[in-house]
Amino acid sequence: METTDLSTVRWIHGALDCDRSTDPPLQVVAADEDTFVIRQSKCVDFEAPFVYLLLGTETALLHDTGATADADLFPIRRTVEDLIAGRSLRIVVTHSHGHGDHWAGDAQFTDVPPGSVAPIGDAEVAAFFEIEDWPTGDSTMDLGDRPIDVIPTPGHLGDHIVLFDRTRGFLLSGDVLLPGRLTVRDWSAFRESMSRLARFARETAARGRPIRHILGGHIEMSTTGELYELGTIYQPDEAPLPLTVADLFALEAMLDEAGEGPRSIPANRFVVEPMDGA
Ligand SMILES: [Zn+2]
Ligand SMILES: [Zn+2]
Repeated sequence: METTDLSTVRWIHGALDCDRSTDPPLQVVAADEDTFVIRQSKCVDFEAPFVYLLLGTETALLHDTGATADADLFPIRRTVEDLIAGRSLRIVVTHSHGHGDHWAGDAQFTDVPPGSVAPIGDAEVAAFFEIEDWPTGDSTMDLGDRPIDVIPTPGHLGDHIVLFDRTRGFLLSGDVLLPGRLTVRDWSAFRESMSRLARFARETAARGRPIRHILGGHIEMSTTGELYELGTIYQPDEAPLPLTVADLFALEAMLDEAGEGPRSIPANRFVVEPMDGA
């Protein structure tokens, strides 16, 4: 199978003057023939989230739908249909978490069969994935020869989940681990989530299925480790999207050392930022 090295991809990254930008509303990169990483343009929405399309033999899983509902501005549905054209797959939509920049595009999927779009909210997400003991339990969905582990990771938001694609070794980490701000609303929940995620990483490696890439929901940092200003529409020198399992273990250790009290933790590839009142 032909694969693309995601650490060297040059993503669309906005413009100083979006009126003169010729960037498309979204960029599709095929990591392999059944795995697509899609980036929304900063000229459509400054959040410029990444969304992921994973194809099994039965199901096309779209994880997150982007920051924009309007199909004319951000044609995520049409893009997905084009990418799966010629294959007989049912579409399932899931979300990393309930922040609007990760599910606004759901508006383009209102006509899919009932039960095909995951809900928002921790109790609802737990029920959708049949996770009984949220957040310490987990579950697995199968796209057809492509099992995906679903791991609850509250802390950034209460309904946050991380997906692990066993066949590729991709950990889709949403907003809990990305090259940028790791915004923490619930400090103790976040510490526990990252500790569980690190344990998952060790266990899956022990089973011979190590995490190869950690792929998050945004890039907010430059190659030299500086954070871009919040809300910027131009990031000319972006850090690579993928993080590694070493970054996850570093985060676990930093949170362990930080203890119970929320505090900012700057690191080379991300910055932990507790929200006020966390
Ligand atoms: Zn978020
Ligand atoms: Zn986000």
